[in-house]
Amino acid sequence: MTGIVFDHVSKHYGDVLAVDDLSLTIEPGTTVALLGPNGAGKSTSINLLLGLLRPSRGTIAVHGRAPARAVAAGEMGAMLQDGALIPELTVKETVDLVRKLYPGPLALDEILSLADLTEIAGRRANKLSGGQTQRVRFALAVAGAPRVLLLDEPTAAMDVESRLRFWAAMHDYAAGGRTVLFATHYLEEADEHSDRVIVIARGRLAADGTAAQIKADAGGHTVSFTLGAQPSAALDRRTPATASRRCGGPGHRAGCRRQRQ
Ligand code: ADP
Ligand code: MG
Repeated sequence: MTGIVFDHVSKHYGDVLAVDDLSLTIEPGTTVALLGPNGAGKSTSINLLLGLLRPSRGTIAVHGRAPARAVAAGEMGAMLQDGALIPELTVKETVDLVRKLYPGPLALDEILSLADLTEIAGRRANKLSGGQTQRVRFALAVAGAPRVLLLDEPTAAMDVESRLRFWAAMHDYAAGGRTVLFATHYLEEADEHSDRVIVIARGRLAADGTAAQIKADAGGHTVSFTLGAQPSAALDRRTPATASRRCGGPGHRAGCRRQRQ
């Protein structure tokens, strides 16, 4: 059955339209980046997908079920933007506590190894660095062996080394044919770590494709040529370019004249 389906989904917070008529389908087994600036509606979309928020309009389905049902069936795991650990518990105790809540969890050692936590399994949560805490939160998200993993800006507050280890762990998990959807505002993260990039801006779908396609569309091209004696007025009216610049020639000795179109 189709993986994740958003069908004309909108979400209002009072007067704020955070998600605006979003429709998309995500096939099972894909790793998708949800890319957009702060305030674009990424977290709202993820919270809708988890059933933590209800759409103002439209419907969402995960493997043919409503989000809350899919969560109850253990199909989804999530690492949200906030969420504290219990300070006195060790990493191992924390992971074991959470995995026991699920009907078919991964083995404890497998989770610790996957999230690169084996070496610090005996350390208390209040003694962890920011990057280590994020890896524990990742471990909790995968503990129930969910088919769909949602990660909301997972590398925020991580240093370069932690980021590398984190993405390696994510790829290991995704390699088992699972669906991963991660929110980011970094084009580089979307580019390097996803099969598909969904760009949202002001709650609307702005672009959808592979990272290479998105970059090609966003980058544009520069075409330059010598106009010679031809009058340039018609050019300004006809060109499909977003901006033009004329350099040299009569009347342009002071440099280039730039025009937005
Ligand atoms: P992102 O995760 O892409 O930064 P969000 O989904 O958090 O974006 O927010 C989308 C929009 O909705 C923003 O304009 C934000 O200010 C607004 N918003 C988010 N949560 C709430 C809320 N609980 N109440 C009111 N407005 C909110
Ligand atoms: Mg957010």
